[in-house]
Amino acid sequence: MDKYYGIDLHCSKINLAKVNPENGNLDGEVYSEFFENFNSPRDLLSFVENNIPSSSRVGISAPGVLDKDNLIVKSVNSSLGEKITLGKDLRDKGYDVTLENDVVSEGFASSMFGHGKKALNFVLATYSSGHNCVRVNDGFIDFNPEFGHQDYRGNVHEIICGCGIKGCLETYCSGKGAAKIAESLFRKSWNFHISNQFELIHQHKPVVTIYRKPLSETDSRDPNWKIMDLSLRDYNNKNNSLFNFEDLNNKDFEEKILSNISGKNVYDAYKANKDGIPQKFIRDSQVKGIANSLNRITVNYNPLDLIILKGGLTNAWEELFEPAIEMYSEIGLIGKNYLKKPEILKTNIEEIGIVGGVANYIKKKADRNF
Ligand SMILES: [Zn+2]
Repeated sequence: MDKYYGIDLHCSKINLAKVNPENGNLDGEVYSEFFENFNSPRDLLSFVENNIPSSSRVGISAPGVLDKDNLIVKSVNSSLGEKITLGKDLRDKGYDVTLENDVVSEGFASSMFGHGKKALNFVLATYSSGHNCVRVNDGFIDFNPEFGHQDYRGNVHEIICGCGIKGCLETYCSGKGAAKIAESLFRKSWNFHISNQFELIHQHKPVVTIYRKPLSETDSRDPNWKIMDLSLRDYNNKNNSLFNFEDLNNKDFEEKILSNISGKNVYDAYKANKDGIPQKFIRDSQVKGIANSLNRITVNYNPLDLIILKGGLTNAWEELFEPAIEMYSEIGLIGKNYLKKPEILKTNIEEIGIVGGVANYIKKKADRNF
């Protein structure tokens, strides 16, 4: 049988694997490498050539602006420069290559191999470093990369989104958003901020005021500092260093740890300690935002049979998505209660970016190869 390989070019990483074109299953292991470990486009090409036999069929999925005819990924801010020419380089070496946007590719993968097989009309929604969605309607694709940048009046409206403006839905529906909220909560306005925000979300309950104790009086076991503790551990792992909690009393070092906070730190802190106010606050804010985003998807893309969810945030399924889906099921659709609420499922395709590359290859070249 012909060999099909999928390549997923993340913002910072390449993942590739052989894929069975009949069922979309991975056939063998996934090979990965960070771009920062390649010194030149030639290094990246060698990595791929070492892991994909010559004359294979290769589907690449990638974010950014794409020149699909010339198989070049533009506008990439990576250590490899502003363009990734891997697709073109592979074609020059005799591989048969296609290139498509990652989310569009993942829509095809869901339609061919995933939960989307049973639905004529579905949305694949990404909750990851960003939030966007793609609708697949009877095989046609409608991609909305800016879905997360709609205005949403949640309880952290002052946080500035990656797009440069305040109050985007994406802040509530992304790991980057969780990290930004955490960073803001841990800055010096922390007491005031938390007490105010709690007033907002517990309108009919007594106001909860949390006083930020000086670091010298606390330690990493304090549930309110769990996010900082995890960020510090990540920093030590990355830099092979041995800083401890007391080092956070140094302002410059505290700044480094604040800017090192990741969405994963926030959700891991919630898993480890639900009693910590910062992580509980962020989780509650995001649950409401996710419920709101599901509501907007339903209204914007109706009629809809199914919403498939994917992305790093779905790893915190129990913490974020179970309560969000419950909230979504209970709330009305802003005066549109006659709309049918679609089924909601987490994607069943592991490595959907890799499988998406092959799904797009099949879609584009089906008339020639099938
Ligand atoms: Zn935005």
